[in-house]
Amino acid sequence: MDNQKPVTVAKSVVNESEQIQLAIQMIKLGARLQLLESQTTLSRERLIKLYKELKGVSPPKGMLPFSTDWFLTWQPNIHASIFYNIYKFMLDYTGVSGIQAIIKAYSLYLQQVEIEGSDAEPVLSLTRAWTLVRFVESKMLKLQSCSCCGGNFIVNTYDINHRYVCNLCHVPSRAGKTKKAKALTYKVVSMTA
Ligand SMILES: [Zn+2]
Repeated sequence: MDNQKPVTVAKSVVNESEQIQLAIQMIKLGARLQLLESQTTLSRERLIKLYKELKGVSPPKGMLPFSTDWFLTWQPNIHASIFYNIYKFMLDYTGVSGIQAIIKAYSLYLQQVEIEGSDAEPVLSLTRAWTLVRFVESKMLKLQSCSCCGGNFIVNTYDINHRYVCNLCHVPSRAGKTKKAKALTYKVVSMTA
């Protein structure tokens, strides 16, 4: 502390590079432009430029998914539940929060569902994961433990089911109990236990 350097200038440069790093991280994980705009202080033009540079194409247009219904359908519900269990663990047991917790939890989710390194699109996109967190924060969705397997799953807050049975213990006939689905159930249950 022997001199009074203009701290604010240094700070804003650091902050800007942090913002760019954050945007790059999110773009690589598949974030939509609206998500990038809401979570960084970078301008729309800047974000579009970054996106094009990293992905080689312009960011897709269109609105963010709005309805909670998607998270309650069979396969998305399993994936949303896996992500949210990891995210909750992050909040409860590590020091991270906010978008950083979402990014970390999402990366771990990709590892869990074995998408990383393959060309397949993950069922739950980063944008959906972020939307899910907002739905839970606004109390439209919540985690509920299944009375059959004990796993924690995403449910509609206004569902007045006293004995909740998850989609995996009660599989609709059209979905079928695939090996992969079974493996994912064990993951949700083991995360909760
Ligand atoms: Zn269950």
